[in-house]
Amino acid sequence: MKKVVAGVDIGGTNTVFGLVDKTGKVLAEGSLKTTDYPKINDFVQALTTAIKKLLSTKKEYTLIGIGIGAPDANYHRGTIEHAPNLAWKGIVPLADLIKSKIKVPVIVTNDANAAAMGEMIFGGAKGMKDFIVLTLGTGLGSGIVIDGKMVYGHTGFAGELGHMTVVKDGRDCGCGRKGCLEAYASATGLVRTTLELMSVMREESPLRDIPPSKLTSKKIAEAAAKKDPVALKAMNDTAEILGFGIINSIVFSSPEAIFLFGGLAQAGELLFAPVRKYLAKNNYVLFKNTVKILPSGISENNGAVMGSAALIWNGISD
Ligand SMILES: [Zn+2]
Repeated sequence: MKKVVAGVDIGGTNTVFGLVDKTGKVLAEGSLKTTDYPKINDFVQALTTAIKKLLSTKKEYTLIGIGIGAPDANYHRGTIEHAPNLAWKGIVPLADLIKSKIKVPVIVTNDANAAAMGEMIFGGAKGMKDFIVLTLGTGLGSGIVIDGKMVYGHTGFAGELGHMTVVKDGRDCGCGRKGCLEAYASATGLVRTTLELMSVMREESPLRDIPPSKLTSKKIAEAAAKKDPVALKAMNDTAEILGFGIINSIVFSSPEAIFLFGGLAQAGELLFAPVRKYLAKNNYVLFKNTVKILPSGISENNGAVMGSAALIWNGISD
């Protein structure tokens, strides 16, 4: 029997899952609407049933584990804890609940750690021992690898770089504090910056015709690609603050590369070029030109599923 791992990515809206072989190939996949399951037991039932159904289509494979990326996940305890963007309140013993339905090892960690593990096992960080993945979506997540090992820390929550303070008394953050990196350097942060700029800049911009609630990082990136001055400045300002967050991370752990992943990273060179510019300008001299800023080596489509599966494949040699 060939071995296969189930990778699961739990998001606030959707949960995607798939069967991933040791080369990172996604053999079969499916999805659930997370919001359809306000009770965790119903969610676990639906997810495990769906995984068993996928397995029944791949009879030559045997399941050796389930890797799960989820918001506010604790690697040490296999739990999701007080996740503001999920309906399940308090501490959810997710790994134990899944193991009661499917008797294989289950690893749970936050989605950015899963992305970093995917990068290390299947993506652009193959062979690297020190790197950081930043996921720039609704928020800013991070997975930190030092000396070939994911950093989980004393609590299991290490790597919350989105909540490093970059502006004193700055923007309100979803965590209840002010001036966190993710309030600026994320898809939502870019939208907030653009809205602020439109109120202080006089230049014409097609973005002014979009109602604020409909403005997205994708639309801003498209406008920047057409040299819209407001969008270009928003991209530049976002890159500057992201650059400071990256520099703070570099002085801490001296990575070989920083991978940018997620919705905002799809802006490509419109974001990467100014990030590199500010890094060249502001980075501490010992680290100048030592760090590559790279796009993820994993496809955005099923990268989250591959990353979650990599949690199990990591350390399995045969
Ligand atoms: Zn915060």
